[in-house]
Order: sequence, then structure tokens, then C-alpha cells
Amino acid sequence: MRDFGSDLSAVALNTATLGHNMASAGAGWSPERTIDACAARGFGGIVFWRREIGDRAVQIGARARAAGVAVAGLCRAPFLVGPLAPPGRAAVMDEFRAAIDMAAALEAPVLTIVTGGVEPGTKGVTESLRLVADRVAEAAPYAAARDVWLALEPLNPVYGGDRSCLTTLRDALDLCDTIAAPNVGVAVDVYHVWWDTDLSRQLVRAGARILGLHLCDWLAETRDVLLDRGMMGEGVADIRAIRSATEAAGYAGPCEVEIFSAENWWKRDPADVLDVMVERVRTVC
Ligand code: ZN
Repeated sequence: MRDFGSDLSAVALNTATLGHNMASAGAGWSPERTIDACAARGFGGIVFWRREIGDRAVQIGARARAAGVAVAGLCRAPFLVGPLAPPGRAAVMDEFRAAIDMAAALEAPVLTIVTGGVEPGTKGVTESLRLVADRVAEAAPYAAARDVWLALEPLNPVYGGDRSCLTTLRDALDLCDTIAAPNVGVAVDVYHVWWDTDLSRQLVRAGARILGLHLCDWLAETRDVLLDRGMMGEGVADIRAIRSATEAAGYAGPCEVEIFSAENWWKRDPADVLDVMVERVRTVC
């Protein structure tokens, strides 16, 4: 397992940790200020959300690289199915391609996909997962031509209805098998998989298809399943065991800290949040 004691080049900040995934949240640091704060702490990567980038993808990507920070990924593709997806297949695919274009312009190697929930008019997840496979398979060559990998991120089953019909690493790998595109893999997020007793087996199965590892914690008495994530060490997830198993499966990419926390971490000074992140990455991850 990689040692974060003195070298944080494998650590990446997902800017959601500072509330940048939502318009009204966080301290509102610019991408440039956030890049410099990451560089100052020795982080090797940063992962942005589309809403931060606008039409400045080329500029922000170059700015990050000049500061010595890789844009490790982009969050995220539109919901591909379900009640929160853009209306209709054509609108979904248009936005999906636009997200791929943005990742390419940033020179971000990975675009994360959160699938969306159960397609209106259907029940259960079978038909929704079939639609997801169809849409990702169509987009995969477009992404491959732009050197973008697509990472399917299974979400905790609590989101099954509206945000993610894809809820386990097992199902994510089954989708990868169905899609059978060389640039489609999975993202593993502690928040979504910590409870899964089959995780270590599925990580071995995933191998080189693991395209991301997201760090945070699950609070035992969580108040909001979307916006009350814990900082590493605050909760009940065995983060070190998950990182160890993921790296043992061959993963050598960035460890991305991603904490949605409207009532706690997003209300703090971002510089302090980043300093705590450094300490926790070193001591509990
Ligand atoms: Zn994640």
C-alpha cells in the first residue's frame, strides 16, 4: 500500500469537499485558488465538477498542470436514466458528449458516471440498467477517441430510486462486461461500498478496471444521506482496508477525497478543511 506519510502526490481533492458541486454551497473559491491550495499541500491531483468549469476547460486544465497538479477527473456525466435525467434519450446523449468534451479539454483522463435512478414508467432496476448499458456503450467510442475513460460509480442503495439504479460494485462490473468497451471501468467510493461484504472479491474481479478511489467516511448517525458525509476517521468505514484491497487489486491511481457535508465541513474555512484532509489521509487512510 502506498505510503502517504511524506508523499501526497497520489492524493487528489474532489472539489465537492469544499462544496463546489452545488451552486449555493461552500466558500466559493475559484478553480485557480483551489488549484494553488492543492499544490501548496503537495496534492498531485484535483477533480472538478462541471459547474465550476463553464467554458474555461482548456484554460483551467493548463493552469492546474502549470501548478504541478493533474486534473485527475471530472464529475460527472449527466444522469443517464431516471427521474433526474435530461428529458429524452437525445438530450441525455447530447449532454453526455458535452461532458466528455469538457473532460478532454481539461485533459482529465476520467469522466465519472452516476447512472441515475429508476427510469419513469418502469419498476425495479433491470430495465434501467439495460438503458444505462446501451447509452454508455454508445458514448464509449466517442470518449475513447478523445482519450477519456468512463468510470461507472455504484452508489449506496439508498439512492436506488432517484440517483443510481447501479448500487453495487458487482453490478457495475456486470455492466462493464455487457458494455465490453476498453475505456469503461468503475469508480470505488468508500461512502457507497463500505458496507458490502462482497467488496474484496469484487475488487479482485475488477483489477485494471478500477479507475478511481474516493475517500470519505460513513457517519454512524448520519443526518442526511446525500450531504452529511464524514471526514475520514469520523465514521465507521474501514477506509484503510478498502484502500489496501483496492491497491492490492492493482489500482495505482489517485485517492480522491470527496466529502459532501453541508452542515459541517462546507461551513469551515476551506484552508482548514484541506489541512485536516492532509492529517487524516496520513493517519487513517
Ligand atoms: Zn464518489
